[in-house]
Amino acid sequence: MRKTADAVVIGGGIVGLSTAYYLAKKGLREVVLLEKGEINSGSSGDSAAIVRQHYSNEVSIRLVRRSLEIFQGFPDEFDGAKAFTNAGWLFLVPEEASEMFTENLPRLKGFGVRTWELSIEDALEELPGLNVEGIARVGFEPDSGYADPHVTANAIVSKAAQLGAEIHTHTAATGIRRPGGVVSVVSTAKGDIETEVVVNAAGPWASEVGGWLGLDLPLEISREQDIVVRLPEGATPITRAVSNMVDRTYFRPEPGGRLLVGTGHPKPNDPAEPDNYSRDADPEFIRETSRLLAHRFPYLADAELTASWAGLYTITPDWSMIVDAAPGVDGVYLAVGGSGHSFKLAPALGECLAEMILDGSPSTVDIAPLRASRFEDKELMRSTYGGNRG
Ligand SMILES: Cc1cc2nc3c(=O)[nH]c(=O)nc-3n(C[C@H](O)[C@H](O)[C@H](O)COP(=O)(O)OP(=O)(O)OC[C@H]3O[C@@H](n4cnc5c(N)ncnc54)[C@H](O)[C@@H]3O)c2cc1C
Repeated sequence: MRKTADAVVIGGGIVGLSTAYYLAKKGLREVVLLEKGEINSGSSGDSAAIVRQHYSNEVSIRLVRRSLEIFQGFPDEFDGAKAFTNAGWLFLVPEEASEMFTENLPRLKGFGVRTWELSIEDALEELPGLNVEGIARVGFEPDSGYADPHVTANAIVSKAAQLGAEIHTHTAATGIRRPGGVVSVVSTAKGDIETEVVVNAAGPWASEVGGWLGLDLPLEISREQDIVVRLPEGATPITRAVSNMVDRTYFRPEPGGRLLVGTGHPKPNDPAEPDNYSRDADPEFIRETSRLLAHRFPYLADAELTASWAGLYTITPDWSMIVDAAPGVDGVYLAVGGSGHSFKLAPALGECLAEMILDGSPSTVDIAPLRASRFEDKELMRSTYGGNRG
């Protein structure tokens, strides 16, 4: 383990990896990433990783547009890795959200998102067997889809390493000392590293890391569950990624004729301790999610459950990440509070944070709305649909 570094990134999830990669790509020589377990052993490895662009505020729309560009160019930039599946994305909208949808569609188009409304008949073509009860409107994004979290992360690790970044797994940061000025000393069991740049990308553990520096981060941790079912023999496969606001579910194809399904907002948080929570999905969740799926696709009533799990959301008060210099601690940066929708934003956020660190401010997207002080200033991020729908 080196004793000094130009930057130390704490956390080997999608946010830390992306930040380390862009720091190295922009020419920073000694970039060290510390991951206490395996790469993607936090929220990123559990993610559904749906990449849709239907956000309702400028910064999220700009970020997801840039991330999508990066996902689309992934094989070229990351040695052929096929991290992203361009499945297209459908948004099933209930009557009560119809007005918001009407307002938001032109906003998205204004920022260059290719999206339009489908008729119910067209939606039936896209999703054969769909029970259209309660669906008032349907949005479509042909360029969206979903990522494979592990292919994405491994490709970034390899490329960052080629650029000289050192990625240490099973190496926890155990504390940070501040001997003076902008210098931080990050402790690990393998020795201390002195650096002028520390990035806290510790996901559900970000509050612990922030606590070492006296930072009180406004983060809540909540369990988030998913199931995977195998479609019955001969059933028409579901090929699109879908956010179904009518039943509050989301789903997308999984390899092997399977479907990943989760439930969306509004729902209460399920508070959890990151070091001590049940990784198993609750039987009640499995029953209810299967019921909702069968209601929407009656031919899936007997779909076989093949996997289920619970991961963690790290939630800020306005359900948007904090990406900023840490207030009052020179040389420390925060990339925390993924709030259940930041897998898709992480490539762009990593790029913007690297620009902030090396150039003083980001040039790809103005991420000032994600600043740490917004809660104190009462300038919270706004989103039309609420929760992690953005
Ligand atoms: C079930 C589920 C479904 C989701 N679906 C979607 C979706 O469809 N689309 C979407 O965009 N987002 C989705 N998300 C959200 C998205 O996955 C997260 O916002 C994103 O993965 C957060 O990444 P991260 O790098 O911030 O955190 P993490 O992936 O949790 O990474 C943090 C890493 O830091 C490491 N770490 C912590 N403390 C230390 C330490 N002291 N030293 C060293 N390492 C440390 C941890 O081990 C961990 O690997 C979903 C999340 C879940 C759980």
